[in-house]
Amino acid sequence: MPLSNTATRISLLGSTGSIGLQTLDIVESHKDHLQVVALCAGSNSLEKLCAQTIQFEPELVCVPNDADREKLICLLGANKPKKLDIVTGEAGLIAAATLPNCNLVVTGVVGAIGIKPTYAAVRAGKNIALANKETLVAAGSVIMSEAKKQGVKIIPVDSEHSAIFQSLQGYTNNDIDFLWLTGSGGPFRSWTLAQMENATKSDALKHPNWSMGPKITIDSATMMNKGLEIIEARWLFNLSAKKIKILIHPQSVLHSAVEFKDGSIVGQMGVPDMRLPIHFALFYPERVASTLVPRLDLVKLGSLTFEAPDYKKFPCLLMAQEVAESNTTLPCVLNAANEVIVDSFLKDLLPFKQIPKLLEAVLSLHKPARNPDLDDIFEADAWSRKEAFRLVQAPISSI
Ligand code: MG
Repeated sequence: MPLSNTATRISLLGSTGSIGLQTLDIVESHKDHLQVVALCAGSNSLEKLCAQTIQFEPELVCVPNDADREKLICLLGANKPKKLDIVTGEAGLIAAATLPNCNLVVTGVVGAIGIKPTYAAVRAGKNIALANKETLVAAGSVIMSEAKKQGVKIIPVDSEHSAIFQSLQGYTNNDIDFLWLTGSGGPFRSWTLAQMENATKSDALKHPNWSMGPKITIDSATMMNKGLEIIEARWLFNLSAKKIKILIHPQSVLHSAVEFKDGSIVGQMGVPDMRLPIHFALFYPERVASTLVPRLDLVKLGSLTFEAPDYKKFPCLLMAQEVAESNTTLPCVLNAANEVIVDSFLKDLLPFKQIPKLLEAVLSLHKPARNPDLDDIFEADAWSRKEAFRLVQAPISSI
């Protein structure tokens, strides 16, 4: 479905999160070309969703349950758009993702909750601006084969994958020798292993370059984020995980690169601002002027540096790399356990250093299914969450 020559009508899943808010900033500054037709948000942000509904006048809004629906109606009061449909739960998310009037679904929700609506959107022939990496980590094979069958475009919003996607324009993956996935190294890049033993939540939440939601910021501190991105890239670009290399780049200016067969390395640079990859995905394949994102001043920057990753300090990265190649339920289990464990860390239920140990414990207990279908994936996801909850509550000495 071509996106050019017509207004892009967006269903925004996760409209009050970091990706959602930045997407709406871009929509607001390009009203002639971008329109919001559906908004979806969680129970904790109904007031924000109310304000967005009044501002953007979508035809459909999705909230988690009936109580949220009543609250939203109350909040909207006389400002409720006349033709607004308010739907709820998983069925509501799927309705938003498959809305007939939508031609681009932006998946800004966090976690495995994105899998079913993304799959439904692909089956309905909608192009996807994919900001929910967990969907490809857990169900990459299923989503990408369906996307191929339906002829829909999956346009990455993750900054590294957007950089690779942009570098690959005009080429195919047969031309690639390696992908260089860059990462800042997170807040603990220059910490010693001993210092990291006592890292606190506020230390882990201090990302040096990017402004992102709390879950992904913790994933950056453990470098699980980069690990999940290897799996995401493996499915998105249909490559062996062995062809995806990690490069630590503290300035977060080279957002990733492709090393082609002839030895040329082609990458994409820009300021570390998520509005840049979101803007690209909303307008792809066109390049449209952006007034929101500051320009990169290379002279002012002066120099860029690169390092190899330290797997001893970041065992989560190694764990993800080890399961990335397999078309089994292992990546799904890793992702689901990580969601539970990071959430528990954010609720102060465990110390930072326990995150990789708990993940390893869940992975070692799993009996993976090969070539999983969606049912296998949801079964593995539920099993992994249950195991992770159990281990989070177990005494530390028993793990
Ligand atoms: Mg990223």
